[in-house]
Amino acid sequence: MIDFQLITASTPSEASQLAAASQTAQQGADVRFIAGGTTLIDLMKLDVENPKQVVDINRLDLAKVEKQADGSVRIGALVRNSDLAHDPAITGGYPVLSEALLSGASAQLRNMATTGGNLLQRTRCPYFRDLAYSECNKRTPGSGCAAIGGFNRIHAVLGTSESCIATHPSDMAVAMMALEAVIHVKGASGERDVPIGEFYLLPGSTPQNENVLKPGDLITYVTLPTPLSGAKSHYLKLRDRASYEFALASAAVVIQIEGGKIRKARVALGGVATRPWRSLEAEHALEGKPPREAQFRAAADTALRGAKPQSGNAYKIQLAKLCIVRALNVAAAQA
Ligand code: SF4
Repeated sequence: MIDFQLITASTPSEASQLAAASQTAQQGADVRFIAGGTTLIDLMKLDVENPKQVVDINRLDLAKVEKQADGSVRIGALVRNSDLAHDPAITGGYPVLSEALLSGASAQLRNMATTGGNLLQRTRCPYFRDLAYSECNKRTPGSGCAAIGGFNRIHAVLGTSESCIATHPSDMAVAMMALEAVIHVKGASGERDVPIGEFYLLPGSTPQNENVLKPGDLITYVTLPTPLSGAKSHYLKLRDRASYEFALASAAVVIQIEGGKIRKARVALGGVATRPWRSLEAEHALEGKPPREAQFRAAADTALRGAKPQSGNAYKIQLAKLCIVRALNVAAAQA
């Protein structure tokens, strides 16, 4: 770990101004915000992240979950994962998010990790996190990708490129994808709303750029739209061990059933893609159909149609399909 300057920000504007001096808000940023520190401190110890300045944002007034007059819910960026998972507004209106949060990490980590930080989790690709491997385009652009042709059992089958096949590790963001969350950002030139579906970038030839944040951009809160009336949902996470483990495949599903047919469907995947992955194709395959396993299987096939396996992760395609079908069965059984 290198020496760095720790600065405590008192307001979102002050935090934003401090970070605006950075060359980038992506890999290699000179200035980083810190809240729970559950990702950043690890990466600084590993010398994967070497910010010159770390801006502590824990004093900002962004730790509330607030129901809005229109039925939506506003979640401050500093709300801890544990608090969010157990908040009545979430357990009552968005149980799929509560399930996803409680499936992530450990109780101790959830007590520290924040909503904003969870959205910005970095990949668990072992080559990214280990400087002994020189080939990692995400860490060092242009250096290659040790995972392609290497150990890639945990890597992505959707959204990959010839430069990077790393998975996004968040459970929370997968549920938020299915809930069509909107991320609010305070930047150097004002505030803006970013639908979560537009927040994450595919790796393409620049995997070091993971999202649309620019220098000075601070996530201030996340809004969940009004829940679909009568909708049923489920988050299913499949992994190597029952707790404190990242997903090999996960599915967040939300279905609204009316008159014996699926009126609206939301399907998002984790553990199999380079970003939290929403499958509009699967949703279209479900809408207007009866909530039966045959329809669920057809939707799952559709969701994985574009999957590209690597040498060690072809099993994920079948695993993800089964995950979708099982999650939909559980959600439909609640109706
Ligand atoms: Fe680096 Fe991405 Fe390749 Fe992993 S998959 S080694 S993060 S470029």
